[in-house]
Amino acid sequence: MPKQLNQDSPFLPQGNSRSYGDSCMLQGGTVLSTRFMNRFIEFDVGTGLMRCEAGVTLADILAVAEPQGWFLPVTPGTKFATVGGSIANDVHGKNHHVEGTFGCHVTQFELLRTDGSARVCSPTENAEWFAATLGGLGLTGFITWAEIQLKKVPNSAVNVENIKYRNLAEFFALSEESEEKFEYTVAWVDCLASGNQLGRGHFSRANHARPTQPKPSAPKLKLDMPVDPPVSMVNSLSLKAFNWLYYNRQRERVSYQTTHYDPFFYPLDHVHNWNRMYGPKGFLQYQCVIPMENSEAAITELLQRIGYANYGSFLAVLKVFGDVPSPALNSFPRPGTTLALDFPYKGLQTMHLFDQLDEVVVQAGGALYPAKDAHMKAEHFKSFYPNAEKLESFRDPNITSSFWQRVMESNL
Ligand SMILES: Cc1cc2nc3c(=O)[nH]c(=O)nc-3n(C[C@H](O)[C@H](O)[C@H](O)COP(=O)(O)OP(=O)(O)OC[C@H]3O[C@@H](n4cnc5c(N)ncnc54)[C@H](O)[C@@H]3O)c2cc1C
Repeated sequence: MPKQLNQDSPFLPQGNSRSYGDSCMLQGGTVLSTRFMNRFIEFDVGTGLMRCEAGVTLADILAVAEPQGWFLPVTPGTKFATVGGSIANDVHGKNHHVEGTFGCHVTQFELLRTDGSARVCSPTENAEWFAATLGGLGLTGFITWAEIQLKKVPNSAVNVENIKYRNLAEFFALSEESEEKFEYTVAWVDCLASGNQLGRGHFSRANHARPTQPKPSAPKLKLDMPVDPPVSMVNSLSLKAFNWLYYNRQRERVSYQTTHYDPFFYPLDHVHNWNRMYGPKGFLQYQCVIPMENSEAAITELLQRIGYANYGSFLAVLKVFGDVPSPALNSFPRPGTTLALDFPYKGLQTMHLFDQLDEVVVQAGGALYPAKDAHMKAEHFKSFYPNAEKLESFRDPNITSSFWQRVMESNL
């Protein structure tokens, strides 16, 4: 990386572009990929402290650490995110209620600014820069390397209980009951179900297996979407069929399985180019979090509005976040329930639906996730993230993103 960047147009650091929206993009500027900054610097097998360059992916870390009994303390649903990207979005995983966000496990990193200055940041050294950079959307500078405290696990395999539940009330009861005994919880929602089955789905809860349990091997089968179909394969017919089959894939109420960690944490990573099934127009994600006290009413309303709009998603995920505080100045996860959905992009129809969903999120005191966003309004962003102006004061003057321009620099 050059010592000092002298160009007229702005820059943006980019990891592996696994963010769904425009927070990892910069129209009219230069995106600097950190993917080739992918070397390990130090790994203490005794303590689990790992230092690596920011472009190292979570998959790279697992490849080195897992055979030594160490695991990622927090992982998003893709192992192809980089360390830099995971810090900049302060990502969360299925164990948020136990371990909080990725930022909770970062012990230090180096931040390089475009004026050539570099500072090591940690909770005790340059602490304000540390907090601003966690969840800082890449705006405070380039993270060149980071140190993470990995987690010792008895076995990287997971014992999973999969529970077929009948409605939202059952989802919340299962979440509450599972919070203490299970490290990982998440639910798939059949968002086409309505009436007294609204919110039905499959609730998965899991813990790492015991040390003596045999480790299942990693699945070899990788699926591929080798071509771009001319139209989206996700339509009301295919959605109905998929959701029905998926909900009924399990006859019994509860099933038990010991599985390799990979298909449990990263199911989509097994389908190469899965995004192609949405056709040339692609898709948008919508991920919100709703405070606990309003969760059931607001999630009901969101699912109803999606149903009335005759829209659907087969990747609909519900999870209750815990209250472990993040050290980040701005972070998406907060106590409450998060709902994430993928929608095939249908132009104005999609935007109209998102406006309707936003109304519910705003009224319920919730927030949207920048890493999954391509539509959030500036006024909403500022209300969801009251420290946005403070982040702006830490922003490198030569760095911005299409997302930041949309939510902070436009009056839309
Ligand atoms: C299948 C799938 C499942 C997912 N599941 C989850 C989930 O469960 N939880 C969750 O939280 N997220 C989830 N995500 C989103 C993903 O984890 C985040 O968007 C993550 O930040 C992507 O990392 P990346 O390396 O691809 O970064 P990019 O998408 O390239 O960039 C993300 C941000 O990081 C900044 N950045 C990247 N590298 C650096 C650096 N070196 N220095 C400074 N800034 C940098 C960029 O400027 C940008 O603002 C999922 C994504 C996919 C595709």
